[in-house]
Amino acid sequence: MRVHHLNCGSLRAPLVGEVICHVLLCETPDGLVLVDSGLGRRDFAEPSRMGPARFLLRPERKDANTAIGQVEARGFTAADVSHIVLTHMDFDHIGGIADFPDATIHTTAEEYDWAVVNPDFASKQRYSQKQWSHGPNIQTHAGPGEAWGYGLNGMEVLPGITFVPMAGHTKGHAAVAVETEDRGLLIHAGDAVFDASCYSPTSPSGTPLTKIGTFRRFEKVMAADRKKLAGNHATLAQLNDQDGVTVFNAHDKRVFTDLAGS
Ligand SMILES: [Zn+2]
Repeated sequence: MRVHHLNCGSLRAPLVGEVICHVLLCETPDGLVLVDSGLGRRDFAEPSRMGPARFLLRPERKDANTAIGQVEARGFTAADVSHIVLTHMDFDHIGGIADFPDATIHTTAEEYDWAVVNPDFASKQRYSQKQWSHGPNIQTHAGPGEAWGYGLNGMEVLPGITFVPMAGHTKGHAAVAVETEDRGLLIHAGDAVFDASCYSPTSPSGTPLTKIGTFRRFEKVMAADRKKLAGNHATLAQLNDQDGVTVFNAHDKRVFTDLAGS
């Protein structure tokens, strides 16, 4: 399948630094598929949809950067997007789903349970229920999945697209593996890592990556289970070291710039 790397939201958080929202647009035989959806048009029209975290992360409200804006700029329509696969349900990953009302939204069953079905106090503060108030068609995928590869389990979402459970940032977080013909295996790690230097010494083009202390501190603050972060970084490093495998995360602009330009 052909893929495009999109930045669907720039956050200008004073205490964290510039954060982007890396979304993958896949052209598949069954229509367009988005991996994550960034921030959406409706978030910008009604900022309260993004919840209180918007005050901390300060999203830049640019309609052209939304997934729908970039899909339309490529000559497609919202109806061409059949599926959206979510690494997790934080506001900066699911805001765009409301712009694709006909798409099937895929999430792990554990994330859906924690965010929507049985939210505890922490998840009521964390997630923004307005972002799924339009009644999307949700399909959940229960773990732990089956042996997928590299010693990891996975749940196949669509042909060539697999959830690889990676809880820690949230309870039901998963990386999403996408098999492509021309770019090998792409792993959208979502927020399983914030600072790409935690899993690779260089960006995909070979540029050395320096440590971003603010990202690392923010990652710990936001983690549902801090104890799992280091293990996830090690797993992503091991994946990224394999021939034909490229790992990227949601928020590190350095990796996005390399992949979007390649
Ligand atoms: Zn995020």
